[in-house]
Amino acid sequence: MSVIEELMAALGNAVLTGDRITERYRSDASLSGRTLPLAVVRPGSVDEVAVALKICNAHGQCVVPQGGLTGLAGGANPRAGDIAVSLERLSGIEEVDATASSMTVLAGTPLEVAQRAAEDAGFLLPIDLGARGSCQIGGNLATNAGGIRVIRNGVARDNVLGLEAVLADGTVVSSMNKMIKNNTGYDLRQLFIGSEGTLGIITRAVLRLRPLPTGRLTALCALDSYSEVVTLLKRAQQELPGLGAYEAMWESYFRFNSEADGLRLFESCPAFAVIVEQDLQGHDAESERFEAFLGRALEDGVIGDALVAQSQKEAQAFWRIREGHALDRLPLLLNFDVSLAIGDIGRFADECGQALRAKFPEAHVSFFGHVGDSNLHIAFSDPGATEETIHAVDDIVYALVGTYRGSVSAEHGIGLLKRDFLHYSRSPAELELMRRIKSALDPNGILNPGKVLGSV
Ligand SMILES: Cc1cc2nc3c(=O)[nH]c(=O)nc-3n(C[C@H](O)[C@H](O)[C@H](O)COP(=O)(O)OP(=O)(O)OC[C@H]3O[C@@H](n4cnc5c(N)ncnc54)[C@H](O)[C@@H]3O)c2cc1C
Repeated sequence: MSVIEELMAALGNAVLTGDRITERYRSDASLSGRTLPLAVVRPGSVDEVAVALKICNAHGQCVVPQGGLTGLAGGANPRAGDIAVSLERLSGIEEVDATASSMTVLAGTPLEVAQRAAEDAGFLLPIDLGARGSCQIGGNLATNAGGIRVIRNGVARDNVLGLEAVLADGTVVSSMNKMIKNNTGYDLRQLFIGSEGTLGIITRAVLRLRPLPTGRLTALCALDSYSEVVTLLKRAQQELPGLGAYEAMWESYFRFNSEADGLRLFESCPAFAVIVEQDLQGHDAESERFEAFLGRALEDGVIGDALVAQSQKEAQAFWRIREGHALDRLPLLLNFDVSLAIGDIGRFADECGQALRAKFPEAHVSFFGHVGDSNLHIAFSDPGATEETIHAVDDIVYALVGTYRGSVSAEHGIGLLKRDFLHYSRSPAELELMRRIKSALDPNGILNPGKVLGSV
């Protein structure tokens, strides 16, 4: 029997072929995928994932795990002849354990559904990102997603207590631990988190929950220099126990997005604008403390001006500028997501901006980021851009990241699109060890081949 016949015999209607494979399975949100998969398997249970992988492994059939397809690195894109395993039917909350402050979810559960279930039980699920309505918990863990709330509770991997994954040969490895402390040998769950579907298919997870904030205080601050952005960050980390977000925007980014929204929030456009947000925990005098923090920063000249949102609507207006949706209207927008030591980010942005503007004088170049998490985003758009422009911009940005010993991917992963630049951030010894881990777990190389490491 062919691999498709065997899959159909074992899983019936869960296997889509021919016209039943819709456009959706072609690409993630990078829109870089060009090919439909040979078939799509939509398992409805962990056992069905295991059966599908066992059959594919026996046939040497390559498989691409697909979650919500919101990834930005081409990691879920199939090649011709690949079979996609979509987790969309493996969805649901299995348990919220209020005593352990944990929730157990199936991997295909949309992030927003899990967030709501946590809130209904009086908890915060701290993993949060703009794609929350479509991305899935399994995809969030496979990419070790970040987002705007990392400064308080860490990245996705910091919020996972237990994990279950299916290996290439169909073995189910269940580490569904609920304990915070567990030092019993290698931490297997962390092996799968951030592995972008190359080591196993994540099927379930135990997520760590936190107390639900009772509200939020949001301020938009104007600053003159990057060193003041860092000073304010250090003060906020020391003085605001509930610091929930710290987002910096360089002048060109802030100007472009506030003008696009028709907003003139400061008399003149500041060199840096920073959103500082505090999660309220229902303690006494939290607002007074927040205002005193801003007052001291103003008196000491760390900030030139500050606006405190008086309503949710005002806070949303600050966040709209930061989200920068107006940039999406620029032609051929390229988004970069890199990490650097916090002290280096200002110099890096200056050098990177100069290098890009020298080569592409007509281009829009702007910087923003989760500075507290050492994460910088770069937006680039040039009306006359060609394929060559994209390569040239990639080379300028990633080579400079390499010089600064930074990371070519802070949040979005390596997938396909950043694979050729991985060597800027990982040593030959690290890459070799990654290849050995891949070969040990997936000796036939069937799981998401070509992603992250290229051919093993
Ligand atoms: C508007 C928007 C905002 C975004 N904001 C952020 C942000 O702030 N921070 C951030 O980190 N990312 C962000 N992203 C990127 C993206 O949402 C994340 O990478 C997300 O975690 C991907 O989840 P997904 O379910 O869509 O995965 P997919 O795109 O389907 O897959 C991503 C990778 O994970 C693998 N994979 C998926 N599911 C599984 C599984 N169950 N087991 C094993 N491997 C699997 C795939 O093979 C692929 O390699 C954003 C994207 C968009 C479109």
